[in-house]
Amino acid sequence: DEALAVVDPEVAGALDRELRRQQDTLEMIASENFAPVAVLQAQGSVLTNKYAEGYPGRRYYGGCEHVDVVERLAIDRVCELFGAEYANVQPHSGAQANAAAMAALLEPGDTILGLDLAHGGHLSHGMRRNFSGLLYRAVPYHVRDHDGLVDMDEVGDLARTHRPKMIIAGWSAYPRHLDFAAFRRIADSVGALLMVDMAHFAGLVAAGLHPNPVPHADVVTTTTHKTLGGPRGGVILSTAEQAKRLAAAVFPGQQGGPLEHVVAAKAVAFRIARSDEFRARQARTLQGARILAGRLCAADAATAGVRVLTGGTDVHLVLVDLRTSELDGRQAEDRLHAIGITVNRNAVPFDPRPPMVTSGLRIGTAALATRGFEADDFREVADIVAQALHPALDAAAMALLRARVSGLASRRPLYPRLGAVSQD
Ligand code: PLP
Repeated sequence: DEALAVVDPEVAGALDRELRRQQDTLEMIASENFAPVAVLQAQGSVLTNKYAEGYPGRRYYGGCEHVDVVERLAIDRVCELFGAEYANVQPHSGAQANAAAMAALLEPGDTILGLDLAHGGHLSHGMRRNFSGLLYRAVPYHVRDHDGLVDMDEVGDLARTHRPKMIIAGWSAYPRHLDFAAFRRIADSVGALLMVDMAHFAGLVAAGLHPNPVPHADVVTTTTHKTLGGPRGGVILSTAEQAKRLAAAVFPGQQGGPLEHVVAAKAVAFRIARSDEFRARQARTLQGARILAGRLCAADAATAGVRVLTGGTDVHLVLVDLRTSELDGRQAEDRLHAIGITVNRNAVPFDPRPPMVTSGLRIGTAALATRGFEADDFREVADIVAQALHPALDAAAMALLRARVSGLASRRPLYPRLGAVSQD
C-alpha cells in the first residue's frame, strides 16, 4: 500500500518532471492533448487488475459485472456521439483499430488505396514497412502540387485501374476537410469498401464542427487521445452489418484482454464530449488554428520564407512549408523547442529535404485550447511562432520570446490541482 514516491522514487521523479514540462511549455504537437483529471483517475483505477476477454454479457472470465457496466457506457456514449450503429471500444490504439478493421474486411493480398505517408497519410494506411503495406497491396494517392488538396481525380483513376477492396480516407497531416461523399461515390463505382480514419479530427466531429464521416463509411476508426482529448486508445465504429466481423477481428483476432481501465477513461471522455464546454473548446481550437495560419501568411513571415500549405486551415492544425526558408524542419523544431514550444517537424508533399530533416512543421492548437487559450492568447502565441521562424534571430531575441512563452504558460495554468507524486 505504499505510495509511488516510496516504492519507486526514480519513476516518481520523472513523472513530476514531466508534469512540470507540460505545465511550463506550450504543447503544439497536433496529435496531442491534455486528458482531464477525471480521465486520468479512471485510467489509474483498479480496473487495471481485471481480465475481461470477450464483450459485455459474453465474457470468458468471472467477476465482470462492473466492467460490463463501464464498457456498455463507453459503447452507448460513443455510438450516440457519432451516430454509429456499432462501436468497438477495445482497440488498444489507433493503429490496432486500423489493423482489426482491415483484418475484418480484407484478405491478405487485397488492394487498399490510402493517402501517401509523405503527403499526410498515416503509417497504417499502407506504408511499406507497416502491417498495412506488408499484408496488403497498398496503392497510394496524393495531394496536388499546385494547391496541396487531395487529388480526387487521381483517387478515381487509381480506383478504376487497381480495383481496391478498400479505400481509406483520413490523414495525420492535412489541413482541410475531405469530401467523404466523393470518396463514397468512387468506392461504390468500383465496389470497394470505404474506411475513414478520423483519428485527428474526431473531437471536431463530436462537436459538430467538422463533417461526420459515419453516414458515408462502412467503417470509421479513431484514436481517443487527439482532438477528442481522452485516454490513449482506439475505437472502431460501423454499421450493424459489419459488427460481427469487426468484433471477431478485435477479439480474438488481434487482442487478448481489453484494457478496461482505459475503456473506463474512454467512457468518461465520451461523456465530457457531449458537454457545451467541450464544444466551446473545439471551437477555440479551430479559432486558434485560423489565427496561427493567418499570422504565418503575413508579409514578414513570407519574407522569411515561411508559407502555409493550402493557404490556411479548416481543422486543428497548420502545416508550415519551409521549402523556401533557410531554416529546415529540424532547425525550426529545435528553435521552437528552445523557447518552450513543442511541435514536430513534418515532411511537406514533394519535400526536397530528407525525412529526418524535412521542410515543414505540423503545429496544432488542440492542447492549448484545452488549457483554456482564447483568441488573445492564440494571437500572442502565433506572433511568437512567426518571430521564432525568422532565420536571423540572436540570443537576446530568443530570450524575449522564451519569456513571452512563460507568460502565456502562467496565464493559462495546466492541471493546477495536480500535486507532485515524489517527495523531493
Ligand atoms: N490514424 C491516424 C490518422 C493517426 O494520425 C494516428 C496517430 O498518429 C493513428 C492512426 C495511430 O494511432 P496510435 O498512435 O494510437 O496507434
